[in-house]
Amino acid sequence: LEGLKYLVVGAGFYGAVTAERIAADLGERVLVIDKRSHVGGNSYSENDPATGIECHVYGSHIFHTSDPEVWSYLCRFASLNHYRHQVLTLFGDRVFQMPINLATINAFYGVNLTPAEAREFIRQEIEKESISAPKNLEEKAISLVGRPLYEAFVKGYTVKQWETDPRLLPADIITRLPFRFGYKSDYFNDPWQGIPLDGYAPLFRRMLDHPNVELRLGTDFFAVRDRVPADCRVIFTGPIDRFFDYRFGRLGWRTLRFEKEVCPVGDFQGTTVMNYADAAVPYTRIHEFRHYHEERDYPEDRTVIYREYSRTAAGEEEPYYPIGTAADREMLELYQDAAQKLPNVSFGGRLGNYRYLDMDKAIQAALQTYQREIKGAGPR
Ligand code: FAD
Repeated sequence: LEGLKYLVVGAGFYGAVTAERIAADLGERVLVIDKRSHVGGNSYSENDPATGIECHVYGSHIFHTSDPEVWSYLCRFASLNHYRHQVLTLFGDRVFQMPINLATINAFYGVNLTPAEAREFIRQEIEKESISAPKNLEEKAISLVGRPLYEAFVKGYTVKQWETDPRLLPADIITRLPFRFGYKSDYFNDPWQGIPLDGYAPLFRRMLDHPNVELRLGTDFFAVRDRVPADCRVIFTGPIDRFFDYRFGRLGWRTLRFEKEVCPVGDFQGTTVMNYADAAVPYTRIHEFRHYHEERDYPEDRTVIYREYSRTAAGEEEPYYPIGTAADREMLELYQDAAQKLPNVSFGGRLGNYRYLDMDKAIQAALQTYQREIKGAGPR
């Protein structure tokens, strides 16, 4: 690492974009390390060896953005297909559209309301409970959608996601529940959406394919940190609390476990993501990856599904979603204050900022921070 001027820790979107900019725009050499054996961070996907079906190994990843700068940047490294995301949920023995829309309301109540009638109907459902100052997540959800829809679509799913009775969860976990009084079933509203035509891994390989970029996979920062030159600029996209050896405690995360199955049918569920609303079903959703690529010739007699299970992360388990309790937020402030005192280290991405970030937001943040703090800092 002698003479190294730029070190990027993590080859997910935040790290890869930063490295690409340092190499191609600043014209400087940069070393990228990742403790995993692959590039792409949590957006990584790989082909199942038995079927050739591309699986998103850290859960379904759909690219979507409204930011023209992010879109034109991404298009330099990948073309996307025409996939449009839709989410369905199984409650009891019936499938409903998510987020709750006019089709969900009409099917659930067995009615045929117009948008205006549905609005009034839901208003009356909410009024029945007359909750003006919700004290917990259950009351908050009921104050937004009424009790029957809460019990069907929010309660069981929340219990599985948080392993906690919704009456014991703070009301501010949800500020609103997406609700549509029309039949639109597209999950995202962004003008640009899709899945990389040839997969996420090739996208990352193209980003990092530059003579100024050296990539070392299977390399943990904490195994090499003692050898990083003092004046090297480090862009750290791992967990901020780990960087400081958990000196103020561990930030809370939810983790996921995926159970993979190759099924002897051409189509298991007819869609990419099916939520399971009932508390009695132990998994939260099933992903069926073949449907992300209708343009590909996948086998007609086999398909790959992942069942997703959610729980609180313990020890070094993979962090997925920040929990963000009041205690977490206070702890984060302490870490951020400590980070400010390190002139040569910047923290980025979802782990470095302890924040859920969609892929486009990770790209956007990396582009902005590069301009402001790396290029803007002048030559080293
Ligand atoms: P990451 O992708 O997590 O990359 C960080 C990298 O740092 C990892 O590769 C890690 O191995 C490495 N690292 C950590 N510590 C060290 C260390 N000590 N030494 C070396 N390397 C280290 N976004 C969307 O836009 N659409 C979606 O549909 C979508 N679905 C999602 C589904 C789930 C279940 C989750 C959790 C997230 C989803 N996201 C989605 C968000 C997406 O995953 C993030 O936007 C993206 O991962 C952010 O990139 P990043 O570089 O910040 O972090």
